[in-house]
Amino acid sequence: MTSDAPTAGSLADRVSKPEDTEPTTTENGQTDGAAPNQGGSDLQEPEYNVEVKLSDLQADPNNPLFSVKNFEDLGLDPRILQGLSAMNFRKPSKIQERALPLLMGNPPKNLVGQSQSGTGKTAAFVLNALSRLDLSTEQAQKTPQALILAPSRELARQIVGVIQVMGQFLDGLNIGTAVPADTNARPTKMEAAVVVGTPGTVMDMIKRRVMVAAKLKVVVLDEADNMLDQQGLGDQCIRVKGLLPRDVQVVLFSATFPAHVHQYASKFAPAANELTLQHEELTVEGIKQLYLDCASDEDKYRTLVQLYGLLTVGSSIIFVKTRASAAEIEKRMVEEGHTVASLTGGIEGSARDAVIDKFRAGQAKVLITTNVLARGIDVSTVSMVINYDIPEIHQKNRGDPRQADFQTYLHRIGRTGRFGRVGVSISFVSNREEWEMLAQIQKYFSTEIQRIDTKDWDEVEEIIKKTIKNTRAQGNFGR
Ligand code: ADP
Ligand code: MG
Repeated sequence: MTSDAPTAGSLADRVSKPEDTEPTTTENGQTDGAAPNQGGSDLQEPEYNVEVKLSDLQADPNNPLFSVKNFEDLGLDPRILQGLSAMNFRKPSKIQERALPLLMGNPPKNLVGQSQSGTGKTAAFVLNALSRLDLSTEQAQKTPQALILAPSRELARQIVGVIQVMGQFLDGLNIGTAVPADTNARPTKMEAAVVVGTPGTVMDMIKRRVMVAAKLKVVVLDEADNMLDQQGLGDQCIRVKGLLPRDVQVVLFSATFPAHVHQYASKFAPAANELTLQHEELTVEGIKQLYLDCASDEDKYRTLVQLYGLLTVGSSIIFVKTRASAAEIEKRMVEEGHTVASLTGGIEGSARDAVIDKFRAGQAKVLITTNVLARGIDVSTVSMVINYDIPEIHQKNRGDPRQADFQTYLHRIGRTGRFGRVGVSISFVSNREEWEMLAQIQKYFSTEIQRIDTKDWDEVEEIIKKTIKNTRAQGNFGR
């Protein structure tokens, strides 16, 4: 955390009274990424009005949420503006204000857009995609014109949820979700103007001609660096792109574009406009980064259980390296009486949906997961992220020095502190090598990760509580 980190005093200003609840927001579900109409009233979290403080943040030119313009100035269709106001989006963030004119210009130009976690990249690409749709005939409404690709099923579904709310006043808007089905049966024809999916399924659908690609005007890769960097995903993205019209607008978004991927991204999106950031600019002010020392692996379990025994936070996510440790942590947390959701690559198909939906709905306050959910997931009540294991680059050979995965660290902690909210991240360190990896992370982002001493649990509690007590998620505290 940098020295201009918010103090407890300034955090207090962020929250005003529950009476200020906006009926428009609750009526339409939530403004975070949860798909509407899926969990009934359970999904409706109390939405405290923090517009006073949010507007302060948005008035500060150095804040990534800052903007000069209003949505009305961006040339959007009035029905789309109506959607935005139903979501309670008052003013654009910096990335939205800067990306939208570049994206919506004609003839369309490609874009590589980078902005910190939780700053509203989804709306930036969704607004452009919606603006480009022709919904004038029934035929057009059934023809894919915009394609959005995401690295996980959960993120694809979340984006669908955002489009549903944002596009709710656009008559004839059909949205398709292209994620792995539970059976091998031939999928039904994709009759939607916007399709959101994972690359493998989309490729399969185009090849099997259940999805027509000929009329696509725009393709978006969310979490683009991750999509292009990962072996399987990268190949699939390239193959999908090969099946699209040559003049398709290519839009790449992420919070991170490490140098080696950035070069490649520029090839994938030729002659693109670029909005980029330095890695020193990437940490989010509202996320307090902490770490704690554990003596051994076994001590990590004990510490985790102790931490949760002590604290009642809103919702939290525990990131682990392997499915096995996810299972072990799940077991121990359940023994302690916590209701947890656990989502790893070991679960497939719609069974995964039930897990994430339970977490979004607040029926499970703790989500245990691996890197599958490190990116993109937007649940505004998440006030704590635990790095049970420090994210690492996969070692090519046994015995190679361990190397921290900077990007994954940033994305993981970015599951909290979204759009001006506050949160804490706590990384567990159990030996010298891990401590060094954390030091590398700290240096890379020129940020401070503060040590908390587990010899003094009262102090641990105080530090964490001080940071997160006044978040928008306050109404959801307690388990
Ligand atoms: P990113 O993709 O940059 O990490 P998201 O697009 O998931 O961030 O947005 C983070 C949160 O901010 C979401 O809950 C979203 O609804 C909210 N949000 C986005 N833009 C605005 C805005 N202009 N005003 C208010 N809230 C916004
Ligand atoms: Mg995102």
